[in-house]
Amino acid sequence: MSRKTVFVDSDILVVGGGMGGCGATYESRYWGRDLKIVCVEKANIERSGAVAQGLYAINCYMGMHWNENQPEDHVRYARNDLMGLVREDLGYDIARHVDATVHKFEEWGLPIMKDPKTGRYQREGKWQIMIHGESYKPLVAEAARKAASAVYNRIMVTHLLMDSKRPNRVAGAVGFNVRSGDFYVFRAKAVIVAAGGASHIFKPRAVGEGMGRTWYAPWSSASAYALPILAGAKMTQMENRIVLTRFKDGYGPVGAYFLHLKTYTQNAYGQDYEAFWRDSIEKMVGDYVNHHPVPTCLRNHALLEEVKAGRGPIRMVTKEAFKDPHKETIGWENFLGMTIGQAVVWASQNIDPKEINPELTTSEPYVMGSHATCSGAWASGPEDYAPAEYQWGYNRMMTVEGLFGAGDTIGGTAHKFSSGSFTEGRIAAKAAVRYVMERSNDRPEVSETEYARLKKVIYQPLENYRIGRNEIVAGTVSPSYILPLHGLQRLEKIMDEYVGGISAHYTTNQPLLTRGLELLAMLKEDLACLGAEDLHQLQRAWELQHRVLASECVTQHTLFRQETRWPGYYYRADHPRLDDQDWHCFTLSRYDRDSGRWEMEKAPVYHIID
Ligand SMILES: Cc1cc2nc3c(=O)[nH]c(=O)nc-3n(C[C@H](O)[C@H](O)[C@H](O)COP(=O)(O)OP(=O)(O)OC[C@H]3O[C@@H](n4cnc5c(N)ncnc54)[C@H](O)[C@@H]3O)c2cc1C
Repeated sequence: MSRKTVFVDSDILVVGGGMGGCGATYESRYWGRDLKIVCVEKANIERSGAVAQGLYAINCYMGMHWNENQPEDHVRYARNDLMGLVREDLGYDIARHVDATVHKFEEWGLPIMKDPKTGRYQREGKWQIMIHGESYKPLVAEAARKAASAVYNRIMVTHLLMDSKRPNRVAGAVGFNVRSGDFYVFRAKAVIVAAGGASHIFKPRAVGEGMGRTWYAPWSSASAYALPILAGAKMTQMENRIVLTRFKDGYGPVGAYFLHLKTYTQNAYGQDYEAFWRDSIEKMVGDYVNHHPVPTCLRNHALLEEVKAGRGPIRMVTKEAFKDPHKETIGWENFLGMTIGQAVVWASQNIDPKEINPELTTSEPYVMGSHATCSGAWASGPEDYAPAEYQWGYNRMMTVEGLFGAGDTIGGTAHKFSSGSFTEGRIAAKAAVRYVMERSNDRPEVSETEYARLKKVIYQPLENYRIGRNEIVAGTVSPSYILPLHGLQRLEKIMDEYVGGISAHYTTNQPLLTRGLELLAMLKEDLACLGAEDLHQLQRAWELQHRVLASECVTQHTLFRQETRWPGYYYRADHPRLDDQDWHCFTLSRYDRDSGRWEMEKAPVYHIID
C-alpha cells in the first residue's frame, strides 16, 4: 500500500514532548523569535511521558532566594549518590537555573504547597517540594504549545536523518503517524532529542496481564538512546541502570513516606536491618557507605541482602504515622496525584496502612538519565564552567553536529527529575538556537534516496504480517514473522538472565554478558522479520527496535566496566568491589551503524566542586 509522505521543515526540531521536550520548545521560542520550532511527539503532549498522570512533588528545587541550598550543594549530593561519578559541569548548570523554572510553573498555575509558618514552598525533603500535581503535564504542555510553530502529536520518530554530504551532521528525523499511517520527513537545522527513558528492557516483576505495571512509564521505550546511538553519538554510563525500592505490586512512591511522614523500614521481625550490613558494604565500596545520605544503591543493597538472609519481607512502618489524620491524608493523596494504582492494589489486597505495614520490594532495572542514575548521551558542557575536555561545541550538543538533548537523554547528570529535565530542555534550546543563528546559511541536505529507503524499512513489519499471516495454522504463531510482544518478551528474558535482572538477583559476569550479547545479536537478526498487524503494532515494533539497541548498549557498557560500582543496582560477580583506582571514570561507547560494532573508551571524571 502506498503511504502519503508529509514534509515538515523547521529550524529547531524537538523530538519528544515530555518534560525536557516542553522545556526545549518553550525556550526555543524565547531566543528564536522568528524561527520555525516544531515539536514531534508519539503520544499527545497534553498527557505524555513519565509525568503523564501527574506528580506529587518536584524533586529538584534549590530554594536559593531563601538561602535553602546552593547549586554546589546539589552537585555534592548527586555525586555522593552516584558513588562519585557525575558530570559536575552539567549538574551545576541545571541546579543554577532550576529555581527559575519552578517559579515559571507556579506562574503558569501549578499549585505548589506552602509552609503555613514560613510562607515558603512546603519541603518534602532537602531537595523536594510538594505540589498538587495532577495537572502538572497539561500545564507544562500548554506553555510548549503556545511557543511552538507546530506540535505534531501521534508521530513515532524512528530514525534521525543525517546530512547527505556530512556524515556527522544531523539533518532531521523520520517517523510515521500512528493513527493515519502517513510517513513524515522532518528537515531541521538542529534537532533536540528528549524522548524519555527506558522501561521494559529487563523482565518486569509483573508479567502477563500485569505487565503494564512497571515503575517507569511502560511507554518509555528507549528512543532517547536508540535515536542518537544510530546517528553515531557517543553514549555514557549506560551500565548505570536504576533499581527502585517501592511499595510492592503497585510501585507507589516512597519519597513522601520517608521524608515527610517520617515512616521507616524494618524486616519481618521488626528489626532495623540497614545497620547490620554497614561493615560488609564498607568492604565492597569503602567510605561511601558512611556518607550522608547513604547512596540510594547501597540502601537497595542492604534490603536485598536482608531478604536473601531470609528475613523478608521488608515493610514500611506506616501504622504509627497513619494515626495522625493529617499524615494519613497526605499518604493517600501522594498516590492519588501520581500512582493511583498503588491505592487500588492496597484496596484489593486488604491493606489499610493504619492497620498493616505494607511490603516494599525492589523493581526490575530501568535505564534513564534523570533520576538517581545517569545513563545517556555524552554532551558538551556549559562554556563558562565545563573543563576543556568536556567542551567541543555548544552546550548539550552531543558528539554529532547539530544534535542536542535533554532530560533522560543526556548522561552524567543524575537527580534532575521533572524540573531539572525541563530546565535542561531550556538550556539545550538556548544553545541550539545560537547554533542555528550562527549558521544562517547552513541548510543541511537530506537525501531522497535515504528517506525513501527508510520509508520502506519502517513499514516492512506491516508487509511481513500481510504475507506471513497466510501461514498461520493456529493462534498467533507464524513461521515467518515474530510479533512485537514476542520480541519484547525475548529481549526481557535475555536482559533479565544475562545482564543482571531480577531473576539473577541483579548479578552478572563476563561469560554471562558475552552470551547475552550473542543472544541479542540473534534477536537483532530476527527483528528483520517483525510482523505488525496494524499501525498500533507497527509502533510497538519500532519501540522494540529501540529497546533492543539500547539494551545492546547497556550490555556493552556493563561488560566494559570491570567493577561493582553501584551494588544494589547491579553486581559484576567477577569484579565484586568498587575500584576507584581503575574505574573512577566515565564509560563511553560509540556504535558504528554500518559495521554494527561498538567502540568503548574511558573518559575522566573532573571534580570541579570541592
Ligand atoms: C513513577 C515516576 C515517578 C516520578 N516521580 C517524580 C517526582 O515525584 N518528582 C519529580 O520531579 N520527578 C519525578 N519523576 C521523574 C520525571 O518524571 C522525569 O525525570 C522526567 O519526566 C524526564 O523528562 P524527559 O523529558 O526526559 O522524559 P519524559 O517526560 O518521559 O518525556 C519523553 C517524551 O518523549 C516521547 N517519545 C518517546 N519516544 C518517542 C518517539 N520515538 N517519537 C516521538 N516521541 C517520543 C514520550 O511520549 C514523552 O512524551 C518520576 C518519574 C516516574 C516514572
